[in-house]
Amino acid sequence: MLKKDIEPLRFGYEENLFRVLRAQLGPAISAMGNDKARLLLNARRESLLGDAVRVTADLLPQIHEAYQACLDIFGGDMSGDLFIQQSTEYNANVFGHGKTFDVLIHSALLKDFTLDEVSFVFGHELGHVVFEHSRFPVHDILSKAENISTDTADMMFRWARASEISADRVGLLCCGQLTPAVTALFKTASGLSGIDVERILRSFRMQYEELEKQIRERNDRFTWIRSHPMMPIRFKALELAALDIVALRQGSRGFSWKGFRTIDQQIASILEALDAL
Ligand SMILES: [Zn+2]
Repeated sequence: MLKKDIEPLRFGYEENLFRVLRAQLGPAISAMGNDKARLLLNARRESLLGDAVRVTADLLPQIHEAYQACLDIFGGDMSGDLFIQQSTEYNANVFGHGKTFDVLIHSALLKDFTLDEVSFVFGHELGHVVFEHSRFPVHDILSKAENISTDTADMMFRWARASEISADRVGLLCCGQLTPAVTALFKTASGLSGIDVERILRSFRMQYEELEKQIRERNDRFTWIRSHPMMPIRFKALELAALDIVALRQGSRGFSWKGFRTIDQQIASILEALDAL
């Protein structure tokens, strides 16, 4: 597959929040310096080599192949290993510095997710790398920097949530179809597998509508709604972008950046409405 220009896939709302945060925090604390990032990357790799298992083509051929296929989308200029660790949680994470990184995936995920769903997860993690999300470590900044207002802190969490939508788009680019992306989200949110995909789609759609209605009708400032309404929104963002991203992957003419920005704006407005609470 040809190298794709990934940057325009970044969620516009994420970009806007990042720009505002940079201006508020100043460049000195808004992004991690190169030396610190390299140190962290090395320390993490050391602990992964010590405590996790590195996935090679020899050990897990199919998984390794799926991982490589995702990497190939970026044209071969990214290098990073995949590690697996025993855990019952459906989780994965990554730390990247420039084009170097390591991905860690939990064993439960490899056991219970299909290969296409795992590809979505790989793509999602690699999305965090290409968009350089590790350069802006929210928890690290909040724990160390003083004089950060609650508004700014709040905006950092909004940015972190928005960055998940950018990463999901790369996930979709890697797995190449909406269904495994959605079932991967569903398994992560519910912990359940073996449910018919049509039921999953209906459930997500209804929950999204319910959430939208809730936001429209709200008349007070409950803080609980702020905490984690992301799954239905991530689903909606994927559903809206799916045709375009699949067309982009196939290099077809069906893709237009103009249409894509409209979709972007639609998702941004629902998040903005939530964030304004
Ligand atoms: Zn993520």
